[in-house]
Amino acid sequence: MKEKGLSEDEVLHLLADVRSKDYSYDRFFSTMCTRPHIIAVKAHEMFLETNLGDPGLFSGASELEQTSIQMMGELLHCPNAYGYISTGGTESNIQGIRAARNTSNIRNGNIVVPKSAHFSFDKIADMLCLEVRQAELDNDLKVDLASVESLIDQKTVALVGIAGTTEFGQVDPIEDLAKVASEKDIHLHVDGAFGGFVLPFLEGDWKWDFLVPGVSSITIDPHKMGLSTIPAGGLLFREAKKLAALETETHYLTKSKQVSLTGTRSGAAAAATYAIMILLGREGFRNLVKHCMDLTGYLVKSASEIDLHPVIQPVMNVVALKVASPIRVKEELAKRNWHVSTTREPQRALRLILMPHVTFKSIDLFLDDLEAILYS
Ligand SMILES: *Cc1c(COP(=O)(O)O)cnc(C)c1O
Repeated sequence: MKEKGLSEDEVLHLLADVRSKDYSYDRFFSTMCTRPHIIAVKAHEMFLETNLGDPGLFSGASELEQTSIQMMGELLHCPNAYGYISTGGTESNIQGIRAARNTSNIRNGNIVVPKSAHFSFDKIADMLCLEVRQAELDNDLKVDLASVESLIDQKTVALVGIAGTTEFGQVDPIEDLAKVASEKDIHLHVDGAFGGFVLPFLEGDWKWDFLVPGVSSITIDPHKMGLSTIPAGGLLFREAKKLAALETETHYLTKSKQVSLTGTRSGAAAAATYAIMILLGREGFRNLVKHCMDLTGYLVKSASEIDLHPVIQPVMNVVALKVASPIRVKEELAKRNWHVSTTREPQRALRLILMPHVTFKSIDLFLDDLEAILYS
């Protein structure tokens, strides 16, 4: 830091310069994030200085957090869900599993997750000192139930099912997992970080949330398909005692107990999440998801015209396209300022997420470039 500061104008100019180095969402097919809705941004600004770490001082912001949780609970068929607004899917997964561990009375336990699980579960293994056992996937890239059952033992504190895998957008057989979990009295955590704001609005009869007896907790990310601001995550429990298992005594704050992983935390993203849900309503989200599914259908159809096909028929707005040498293709696309990612072995493919910032036009331009890279 220098001795003398700059003027506000100088600072803003410097910031604008650096901001221009960031790529634009217009060119992103790789991310599950998107531009937040303008209302979410406004709400975020209004509540930026609030601190939910000390909720007694900010009862307004705290009320919005509780109302957001209640609205997400309704969406996931449990209006009386208990939870809080976290910083994202990673914190929600850590805390969901931590609550399961703390209520289990098992030491040196394990959890059983699908091989398709998000890398946040690697952090969980390290932080919570749990062994993470990976169950095999079937041909549709859903978790294989027999494999899950073979990995469960006396030390298993939780099973994990994914509703919208990060790489393929696939949904695990949650009802089957829940049956196993109920029979053995094991916590079932459903990771709906991506799918949480997709499945409730998707056509078809999806049974994956608290409607399924045996689902104990759910991760849902408002900062992905919820159009909220970063960092907005949701963690919901069916039972109060699971949330209570996260409580820490706080000595000098307005409330005597805290459940969140972070201490000081802004109420901005909670306010943004509240604002977008009351603005759009279910109808608005249904239209949004339909739009993203139309984009997905258009991409799959147009790709097939240049003889490119998805690894699995997309369930939601996530497409893994089979191409020769996906990593080289990804790098070539980056040279043309298109940002895609790749899935892991053994199904290495181009991973494309059709978020609300994608347009039909950008799909056309993208596929023109992809065709040029592959066939010229
Ligand atoms: C994105 C994602 C996460 C992690 O969420 P962050 O908000 O990035 O921490 C966890 N699980 C799944 C299935 C995801 O898609």
